[in-house]
Amino acid sequence: MSSVIYLDNNATTQVAPEVFDAMEPWLRGGYGNPSSAYRLGREAAAALAQARDRVAALAGCQSGEILFTSCGTESINTAIQSALALDPDKRHIVTSAVEHSATIKLCEYLARRGYEITWLPVNAAGHLDMAELEASIRPDTAIVSLLWANNETGVLFPVEEIAALTQKKKTLLHIDAVQAFGKLPLVLEGMGAQFVSFSGHKIYAPKGVGGLYVSRRVKFTPLLRGSQEEGRRGGTQNVASIVGFGKAAELAGSHLAQGVDSTLRDRLESSLLTSILGASVNGDTVRRLPNTTNISFEGVESEGALILLDEKGLCCSAGSACTSGSVNPSHVLKAMGLSNDRARASLRFSVGRFTTASDIDRACEIIPAVVAKLRALSPAGQSVLAA
Ligand code: PLP
Repeated sequence: MSSVIYLDNNATTQVAPEVFDAMEPWLRGGYGNPSSAYRLGREAAAALAQARDRVAALAGCQSGEILFTSCGTESINTAIQSALALDPDKRHIVTSAVEHSATIKLCEYLARRGYEITWLPVNAAGHLDMAELEASIRPDTAIVSLLWANNETGVLFPVEEIAALTQKKKTLLHIDAVQAFGKLPLVLEGMGAQFVSFSGHKIYAPKGVGGLYVSRRVKFTPLLRGSQEEGRRGGTQNVASIVGFGKAAELAGSHLAQGVDSTLRDRLESSLLTSILGASVNGDTVRRLPNTTNISFEGVESEGALILLDEKGLCCSAGSACTSGSVNPSHVLKAMGLSNDRARASLRFSVGRFTTASDIDRACEIIPAVVAKLRALSPAGQSVLAA
């Protein structure tokens, strides 16, 4: 594969070499079914147990509170539907307008099935109004489901405060921590959320493996019925990928132990803001992930920018990866009150463990050149230059 400047780590990450090495034996000789009683199966079961311990250590919870799933999307679907199964009279869900499509599509589907959804708005910085959240929780609210970190802007919701509120209101809480997991220290034990979703491919494990924290204090209803995962998630476990997920969690833990580092993101951001006229960051620049910046370049169509940046070997994204390729402006940026033009002029850059200082130096040359080229081609761009 050609060498690229990969600044799209919120979309997915490359498999870390240590993760690949940890997985390989389980794709070769270690092919036993972890439910089998003979040695080959027992070894696979032991590998799953070790992976569960490692994921639990990164999440700050007990191993028995981690279920392995196929992805973050499955974890989110499982958590919300489990809450709904608990009490058929509770048919109201509280979520926000800036969630990942996994939550949005599920809630839209549930709305068509007669559930009532409250879509909480956010302000220009991407934050919730906590009083509005409190007021939205009703006696028939089955669950509150909110992001920890926004995948497009990196903006962090105050999950501890949210959990204190849902506990006060005696309502279940699901947190989509797919982007926060591995990037920030998490301590789920005692936090007050009943469900928290994770995904392997955001933390240098392969795609197709996820995790769900289910508090041992909550009654759980599986989405996939079967005997595996102690009856909580049917389907023979994807041993190699789960082992990879465990290894990736262990590696993320040791990186986090060295501190949360935003140096490369900050360098990229400040360089682009200084060198490009009409560039501005979308969302709170303080309470956000250390690796993410979402920037609008006035007078530039992000779809065109993606093509030119790709030609230069630079990968980033317009809105979320799941909506790229569509011309619709990002629902997250729209919810923050951005105009269609400004939302369409936005690019997300997300650095990762394998991003180097020289990648950032090259990005700081390529991006201004692409922006200048696109502006020279469009009347909107020329008016920025003339201003
Ligand atoms: N939630 C958030 C915040 C995400 O960023 C993503 C992936 O982009 C998901 C959920 C879905 O995770 P997965 O791709 O593992 O289904």
